Amino acid sequence: MALKGAELLKKLPKTNCKECGYPTCFAFAMKLATGGAKLEDCPYLPPEVKAELEAAMAPPIKLVTIGTGNNAVAIGEEEVMFRHEKTFFHEAGIAILISDRESASDIEERIKGIKGLHFERIGQELKINLLALSFESGEQARFEALVEKAYETTDFALILVSRDTDVLFSAARLCADRNPLVYPINKENIELAIPKLKELGTPAGVTGESMEEIVSLTSSLKDAGVEEIVLDPGSNNIRDAIRDQTLIRRAALNKGFRPLGYPTMSFPCFMYQDRFKEALAAAVLITKYAGIVVISQVDKNFLFPLLVHRFNIYSDPRRPMTVEEKVYEISNPGEYSPILITTNYALDFFIVSGAIEETNIPAYLCIKDTGGIGVMAAWTSGKFNGEAIAEFFRKYHVSDKVKHRKLIIPGVAKKLKHELEEELPDWQIIFGPLEASDIPKFLSEEWKE
Ligand code: SF4
Repeated sequence: MALKGAELLKKLPKTNCKECGYPTCFAFAMKLATGGAKLEDCPYLPPEVKAELEAAMAPPIKLVTIGTGNNAVAIGEEEVMFRHEKTFFHEAGIAILISDRESASDIEERIKGIKGLHFERIGQELKINLLALSFESGEQARFEALVEKAYETTDFALILVSRDTDVLFSAARLCADRNPLVYPINKENIELAIPKLKELGTPAGVTGESMEEIVSLTSSLKDAGVEEIVLDPGSNNIRDAIRDQTLIRRAALNKGFRPLGYPTMSFPCFMYQDRFKEALAAAVLITKYAGIVVISQVDKNFLFPLLVHRFNIYSDPRRPMTVEEKVYEISNPGEYSPILITTNYALDFFIVSGAIEETNIPAYLCIKDTGGIGVMAAWTSGKFNGEAIAEFFRKYHVSDKVKHRKLIIPGVAKKLKHELEEELPDWQIIFGPLEASDIPKFLSEEWKE
């Protein structure tokens, strides 16, 4: 739980020596409380006080990283129960399960298919993050061949799944520099696992038959110095999963209960055979509150909506999605191509540009920076009025791009017409359709070179 400035001040030396860069210990404490200063900045904190404050100031849900480099998956450090209270920070990792029971050629195909699962939406790349490699064949060599294949031919973060602890850690050694998550760590193998976890430094996927058992396991791991932990409450249906995930997050955030202050994982792939139920479970768990969901599907029709759902849940509700202000050239426009203008609200841009692309009529799409707010709100706040658009035209030399003088404005922006006729007297102002979906019909009928 976050400490207040006054609580922090009590622990400081209170000499006001200024060596931390602040005029008083009080000022330092206030800055510390808001995350603007670090404990290390005060050289006079006794080690035991520093350790005590570090523990007290740690985030209620630990940040855990699986994998390395650009493909590392960082989960945890969430601060709220509900997205609208602030935002969710670290998006849930989506892992695809691969069993070592599959044939080498099937594994090859599956990995190839997974590597091709990239989508783009509102300028963002949507993709899966992890491979969950499962030991089910009973043959260690087969599992290790799968791990080596995934390690050598992909950059995905890895989850190693094996009930056989020796096999689990033997495989972990093969890809230790990829920082894999090893799963499961449970009451049967914890004693054996602790020294290996400490040696390899890899994160541990902890599971148990009850919440009490999980608490006991995470406490033992913490006492042994293992804190890279991801919790699997072992739920095997959606109802239990919502209950368990909510309980863990509430305990961590509302009660500051450290033994459950870790990100979580869940396995919709083991909950349901039916792929639609599996998809539903994955979507529910991304919403509440899994840090990783492991699924079995690689079907694009299944994955794309799931990735879009995750994107929506983890977008920041405090900031509108925006695109860059500029003149976008769609399909190589020329000097008689139409010119349209709208705001830089990302959804506006992608719907309008997509509709223009549908027409096969090359066009210039002017995108005015309105801070990501839509047409009418931007007009009332002066960000999308005649003056602002005229300024945009001058800045981007729009008049030099075409020989005609026709500007198509959003159909909802009726109030703009007179302002624009005053500010851009050479231009004929044309209203586009009210709905972006009517743009193809509108351009096809209205725009004759
Ligand atoms: Fe106080 Fe420490 Fe800053 Fe000195 S360095 S003013 S003791 S907080």
